[in-house]
Amino acid sequence: MSPLPEVVRVLQFEGPFRATRVTVHPVLLQDPQGPMLVDTGLPGQVDTLRQLLAEHGIQLAQLRWLVLTHQDLDHIGNAPQVASESGAQVCAHAEDAPFIEGHRLLLKLSVQRLASLPPEARAFFQQWAHHPPRVRVSRYLQDGERLPTAGGIRVVYTPGHTPGHLSLYLEAHRVLLAGDALVVADGQLQGPRPEVTLNMEEALRSVAKLAALEPEYVVCYHGGVFGPGAAARLREIAAQAK
Ligand SMILES: [Zn+2]
Repeated sequence: MSPLPEVVRVLQFEGPFRATRVTVHPVLLQDPQGPMLVDTGLPGQVDTLRQLLAEHGIQLAQLRWLVLTHQDLDHIGNAPQVASESGAQVCAHAEDAPFIEGHRLLLKLSVQRLASLPPEARAFFQQWAHHPPRVRVSRYLQDGERLPTAGGIRVVYTPGHTPGHLSLYLEAHRVLLAGDALVVADGQLQGPRPEVTLNMEEALRSVAKLAALEPEYVVCYHGGVFGPGAAARLREIAAQAK
């Protein structure tokens, strides 16, 4: 049983094959006006996503909003199919939009970064470096903006992991969707992972910003749900970073 309020459905699936066996947690937000999906997994997994949504009584075509927390491949992977099948409004921060739209090469798929991966994973990511999933961003989200879905969502600009990373805070429920600004590992909420963070200094400033929200629960795209009592742990992480 999820400890989270009914409106928040945390999905879970693994990468498409062994070399990319990273577990991801897109989030479905239920709303009478139409559901919102936050992030989409690695490319080639739209059927998995469709099936998981159906388990929560939602057809992919019903999605009204698609929020991409940032440009990384494991977040935007199935966004083109989701957008075209649903007609959902695609939302992201303006700093990451040119990458999501395919005008610029995804920052984490640079030649130098790929060179550090094991061969099988490198081959997988290389093919997507050349033909990235592209989707038009129909709405730029700004820091502090409020979205009417799921009882009210505050957009929190949390750069560092990428220049345009966003988090979402469900104020009424005190649930923070932190994307990759934080991770849960070994059952513990942890700060940004340096090896995948483009600007660590900025990322730590973003953690301080998230701590100030005092969420009860945090949902990390990698690691899932942490809480209750997330606020105290977040304060600890923010204090260690100083
Ligand atoms: Zn990620």
